[in-house]
Amino acid sequence: MALNLSLAVPAHAQQQPASAPAGEVFALKLPAASAAAATEANGTVQFIGTATVLIRYQGFTILTDPNFLHKGDHVHLGYGLTAERLTNPAIELDKLPPIDFVVLSHMHEDHFDKLVQEKLPKDTPIVTTKEAAASLGKLGFNRAIGLGKWDQVEVEKGESRMRLTAVPGRHGKAGMQALLPSVMGSMLDFGPTKGAPTYRMYISGDTLVYDDLKAIPQRFPGIDLALLHLGGTRILGVFKVTMDGKDGVELLQIIRPQHAIPIHYNDYDVFKSPLADFAREVKAAGLDQQVSYLAHGETYTFSPRKR
Ligand SMILES: [Zn+2]
Repeated sequence: MALNLSLAVPAHAQQQPASAPAGEVFALKLPAASAAAATEANGTVQFIGTATVLIRYQGFTILTDPNFLHKGDHVHLGYGLTAERLTNPAIELDKLPPIDFVVLSHMHEDHFDKLVQEKLPKDTPIVTTKEAAASLGKLGFNRAIGLGKWDQVEVEKGESRMRLTAVPGRHGKAGMQALLPSVMGSMLDFGPTKGAPTYRMYISGDTLVYDDLKAIPQRFPGIDLALLHLGGTRILGVFKVTMDGKDGVELLQIIRPQHAIPIHYNDYDVFKSPLADFAREVKAAGLDQQVSYLAHGETYTFSPRKR
């Protein structure tokens, strides 16, 4: 397959206890940012819609699961299944600031749509699953980095450093894997490669809650912020393939982040669990103070955690 990994050279084996299998480590070098951007104290997460967010911190600008279709547009989810978009993106694709790289949880059109396939510059680095990286290569994207579980990418931009680790995620129940793409959750550790990160952000990806997720807080304690893909997506009206409100709270209780933001909750007609389901469960669990609700276009500002 025509997959160019020129910027994704395996660096070195990760230091892990013997019980935790080490992932492969890739390197991504980006052109330096302006000094002002790199030294800004606070970071932001702007919610664009679906699972698309713009993360800006320490000079990095990261775009997740780019979906820029509009209300009334349809996406194909494989096997003749389609879904209709019910919302508009808060920002148009051609109005985005320059992007350092994209984090793509999996290859579904509500996460990487036809417009993005056509218009996103083909040399945009995209960090994703091995399966999605292969598909992106066929679409002409020449800087996709495909990760297996626990693989990492160390990103360097001038003086700024961050590291992304692919963590477990599974779209649907075990028996449904043949119908669904592989999914990765992402752990974004900002700050020096060695030692504690200045900010640790977890993105769930389209996953259900299952046992493997329990390994995430064991390997990555002290998560500052979690972005949760909710929606209780049902395919064929029956099979649940993303977390509903109750699952979202269950995941919070497993991951135990300082703070959480729900995303991927009302953008398609196949999303069957409204945000109110999650809000109700959050309240019942006494987690109100730990959750921020963003409407499309709204921004959450964070400061590095005092450790
Ligand atoms: Zn989705």
